[in-house]
Amino acid sequence: MSTADRTVVRGGLVVTAADEMHADVLIEGGRIAALAAHDSDTAAGWTAGTVIDATGKYVIPGGVDGHTHMQMPFGGTTASDTFETGTRAAAWGGTTTVVDFAIQGVGASLRAGLDAWHAKADAQCAIDYGFHMIVADVNDKTLAEMDTLVEEGVTSFKMFMAYPGVFYSDDGQILRAMQRASGNGGLVMMHAENGIAIDVLVQQALAAGKTDPRYHGEVRHALLEAEATHRAVQLARVAGSPLYVVHVSAEQAVAELAAARDLGLPVFGETCPQYLFLSTDNLAEPDFEGAKYVCSTPLRPREHQAALWRGLRTDDLQVVSTDHCPFCFSGQKELGRGDFSKIPNGMPGVEHRMDLLHQAVVDGHITRRRWIDIACAAPARMFGLYPRKGTIAPGADADVVVYDPHAEQTLSASTHHMNVDYSAYEGRRLTGRVETVLSRGVPVIEQQAYVGRAGHGQYTPRGICQYL
Ligand SMILES: [Zn+2]
Repeated sequence: MSTADRTVVRGGLVVTAADEMHADVLIEGGRIAALAAHDSDTAAGWTAGTVIDATGKYVIPGGVDGHTHMQMPFGGTTASDTFETGTRAAAWGGTTTVVDFAIQGVGASLRAGLDAWHAKADAQCAIDYGFHMIVADVNDKTLAEMDTLVEEGVTSFKMFMAYPGVFYSDDGQILRAMQRASGNGGLVMMHAENGIAIDVLVQQALAAGKTDPRYHGEVRHALLEAEATHRAVQLARVAGSPLYVVHVSAEQAVAELAAARDLGLPVFGETCPQYLFLSTDNLAEPDFEGAKYVCSTPLRPREHQAALWRGLRTDDLQVVSTDHCPFCFSGQKELGRGDFSKIPNGMPGVEHRMDLLHQAVVDGHITRRRWIDIACAAPARMFGLYPRKGTIAPGADADVVVYDPHAEQTLSASTHHMNVDYSAYEGRRLTGRVETVLSRGVPVIEQQAYVGRAGHGQYTPRGICQYL
């Protein structure tokens, strides 16, 4: 390794899920080679072709976003970020790995769905990526394919208790997939909402003339999230499988997860920035503006936020992902004017997760190390990517972010990099900003300029969940 091929990040405060230390970081061949105390002779002796001055900054692992939907077909349209634009936006916000969802078509194989998603992402991504598999059609062949996918590095399978007629699986299908996962090491990820009951409430609301976006939140009742979460936990217990509940938003659902974890069950939960920072107040914005905030599970009254923050502090929730699934207001969200059930479900967010969670550090909700845990280390462990991703340690990929904790920024659609015509956080002022991003040692963002390229990001096969 010649000196020219080495990078040293000097003078920053290295923050991982475990430690905070004033250390210089030596990068060789795309990996972390060593850390040494900033004032040590060892660090002083390191020579490198590239030296990044991180004085006064944090040096943190690149974010791992375990829940994105780039260019996903849904609700008669397609999510507006491609793998190219979405992963570029992720990099702008300090995220260096995404795990996206390949989708099995009903009547088709898992393999066909996975191949289709590989074709979309191949040579397009600015940062590394992996895939979960959405299982939409449980049958003997699907179940056998699950074993193969786990061996290939697609080790998690998402199922839906919501969306009858689209992705929905009934309890028997869910149980069969969980039984299979209990034997092959796979992790079942659950969209936990009682979709059958919700669809009744949707029809009743529309029949009563309640068509505005805010009714999306009312019909997707918090108790129907809690009920489905409870049912998913019991099905997983019967099957002897672990369970990961995605996008938890209701206080009562957090309670179900906490109760399961108090029993020692391998049950995990994720929430998203939109549930921590936004509420039904946004869904009620006039002139159809509330459509910008339509996603499922829905935004909740702000009283639910305290339970989510508490869950993140107590580890009853382990991960914050974005569920990034952007649809433009113009021409996409507008499909649901006059009928909230036709508003494409999903919100943009992949760019701002690290910053919003840093704001939570500033606001006193979580510690710095917990910030890195829920945004980097825990998702890497959950999805079998640790310690290659999610930390700064010898041998890890050099996915490194230099983060300025004092910089001020204002979020806006006019300055963000996601391919969507609105920001869910328009005008929100945040303290903290990404300055430089390395992906496997290669600069992607340099002093707040994009220097990456489509195709740098590599497909990353995953191991099994590392919490089991
Ligand atoms: Zn999702």
